[in-house]
Amino acid sequence: MTRPAHLRALVLFLLIATAVGVAATLGLSTLQQRLERSRMAQTAITEIRLDTTALAAITLMTSQRPAVARTMEPFNASTMADLTMNLDLVAQLIDDHAVTGAVHDAANRFVKEINWSKDTLAHTGNPLTSGPYLAWFTLDGALASVDRVAERQAAAARRDATVGTWLIVIIFGGLIALLAGRFAAERSRSRQYAVLAATDGLSGLRNRSDFDRHLGEQIADAHRLDRALSVIVVDVDHFKDVNDTYGHAVGDEVIVEVAHRLSGERRADDILARLGGDEFAWLMPAVGADDAARIAHRALRVLNDTPFGGAGVVTVSVGVATLIDHSESGADLMRRADLALYTAKGDGRAKAVAAAHATVPAVP
Ligand code: GH3
Ligand code: MG
Repeated sequence: MTRPAHLRALVLFLLIATAVGVAATLGLSTLQQRLERSRMAQTAITEIRLDTTALAAITLMTSQRPAVARTMEPFNASTMADLTMNLDLVAQLIDDHAVTGAVHDAANRFVKEINWSKDTLAHTGNPLTSGPYLAWFTLDGALASVDRVAERQAAAARRDATVGTWLIVIIFGGLIALLAGRFAAERSRSRQYAVLAATDGLSGLRNRSDFDRHLGEQIADAHRLDRALSVIVVDVDHFKDVNDTYGHAVGDEVIVEVAHRLSGERRADDILARLGGDEFAWLMPAVGADDAARIAHRALRVLNDTPFGGAGVVTVSVGVATLIDHSESGADLMRRADLALYTAKGDGRAKAVAAAHATVPAVP
C-alpha cells in the first residue's frame, strides 16, 4: 500500500471509529433514557394504583353513600349500574394525573368520615349484600383497570427499549460491515497496485526494479545460508534489425515470445524479469555454476532452435555468472554476467558464455 493509500485508510478508519463512538454513545444514552422512562412509568403506575384505591372509595362515597351507610341493605341491579358508572369514571381519572393530590385528600377525609380502614372495607360484612362489599367491589374493579393501564404502559416501554436495542445493533452492524468492506476493497486495490508496479507491461514478467529488490534479498539469503546463487542474462541478437525489417509490432511479439519460452523453463523459486528493451535476467537461487551452465544452454535451445512467428529465426546470446564468495554484491554479480554476455556477442552471438570467477571492477 502506498503512503497516501495508508493515510486514506487511516483517515477513513478514524472517521468511521468516531462515527461508531458517537452512534454508540447516542444509542446507549437513548436506551438508558428509555429504560429510565420505563422505570418512572412503573413508579407512576404504583402511585396511580394507590390513588385509584382512594378514588374508588370517594366515588363510592358520593354515589353509594346510602348503601354504605345501610350496610346490610340488599345488593340490587341499580346499585350494579352505578358501580359500573363509577368504574368508568375511575378509568377516566386514571389518565388525569392532576387529580392525584385531591384524591389523596378526599380519600383521607372519606376514610376518616366513615371511620373504616381499607382493610375493613375489604373484609367486613356479608360479601354479597353489604355496603363494605360494594366498596371492595368498586376498589377491586378500579384496581383491575389500573392493572390494564399498567400493563399497556409497561408493554409500550418494553417495545421502546427493544426497538432501541435493535436500532443500535443495526447501526453497529452496518458500520462494521461498511468498515470491513472498505478495508477489504482498499487491501485488494493496494495488492493490484503492488503487482502492477512490479510487472513489465509488455512481457508480463517482473520489471527491473522488482528484479533488483529480489536480487538484494537473494544475495542476502545466499550469504546467510551459505547457498549458491546464479544468474543468466539473455539479450536478443540484432533486435534492431527485427524492428527495422518486420516492424515494431513484430519486435514486440518476439519479446513476448522470448518471455513465454523462458517462463516455460524456470523453476518456481526462480526470478525471471525483463530488464528493459530486449534484455532479460533469470535469477536462480541454490543453483551452482555447473547447473547454471546447463540451464543457459537449455535456454539457448528453446529460443534459438525454433523460429519466431513473423520474425522467423531469431537468436539470443547468454551470459552466466555464479556468486563467488560471501563478499560479492548483487551489482558485482550482474556486472560479471553482463561481461560474459558481451563476450558471447563479440564471439559471434547465439551462444552462452560463463563469467570468469573474478570480480569485474565497477565502471568508475
Ligand atoms: P545486439 O545483438 O548487439 O544486442 O544488437 P541489438 O540490435 O539487439 O542491439 P540492442 O540490444 O542494443 O538493441 C535493442 C533494441 O531494442 C533497441 C530498441 O529499438 C529495441 N527496443 C527496445 N525496447 C523495445 C520494445 O519494447 N519493443 C520493441 N519492438 N523494440 C524495443
Ligand atoms: Mg540485443
